[in-house]
Amino acid sequence: CGIIGYVGDGHDTADVLLDGLSGLEYRGYDSAGIALANATLDVFKREGEVSALESALEGADVHGGAVGIGHTRWSTHGPPSDANAHPHTDERNRVAVVHNGIIENYQEIRDELTAAGVTFVSETDTEVVPHLIGQALDAGYDPEEAFRRAVDRIEGSYAIAAVFVGSETIYAARESSPLVLGVGDEGHYLASDVPAFVEYTDRVIYLDDGEFARIEEGGIVVTDREGLVVETSIETIEWDP
Ligand code: GLU
Repeated sequence: CGIIGYVGDGHDTADVLLDGLSGLEYRGYDSAGIALANATLDVFKREGEVSALESALEGADVHGGAVGIGHTRWSTHGPPSDANAHPHTDERNRVAVVHNGIIENYQEIRDELTAAGVTFVSETDTEVVPHLIGQALDAGYDPEEAFRRAVDRIEGSYAIAAVFVGSETIYAARESSPLVLGVGDEGHYLASDVPAFVEYTDRVIYLDDGEFARIEEGGIVVTDREGLVVETSIETIEWDP
């Protein structure tokens, strides 16, 4: 029920993600997970509390990459389990996706992908998204176009974020689920709600329905469904943590 993302060299990405997930705990959740994109794509996820995820991370080499996303899940499709926890990936582990909301037409897409030979490893509606992206990558689309094509296919409510192996960009989109971007001096953030990153920055851009965002260390670009750049304004919020 919560999303956090961070790109930048100013902070330790895994720490920012775990802090963010703790900051989102008030929204309620049954599982938590993170994905870190470096030369490899590393996903850690667990049913249960953020502390269970933290134990799973003990001893893992997670400190060093510049980009990552995290998720707390409130199950709608598939019971709470490690496999159903987000992030979800494509079969070749090139993309990791987190999602809040419900994909209404997931069954149709799942049937189509299954017929095309894709093996699903969870019962979630969300898992169709990384496989759609994987299919688009196979067809030769670049990560941004693959992400847009996948989001264009889904109907329902969503806040979605994706990271790709070997890339320091977070791609995001929303429809009827909240998503806010944080503009920091030492990197940029993305979350379903401000408490996830307010200890790092109080400058925010609220994403509107139907908008896409590309978040990189060097800046944030927001576009509409057609890919046209949207003028955004940065608001400074007052927050008493
Ligand atoms: N529908 C998705 C699932 O059941 C996302 C739920 C959420 O918003 O956390 O995994």
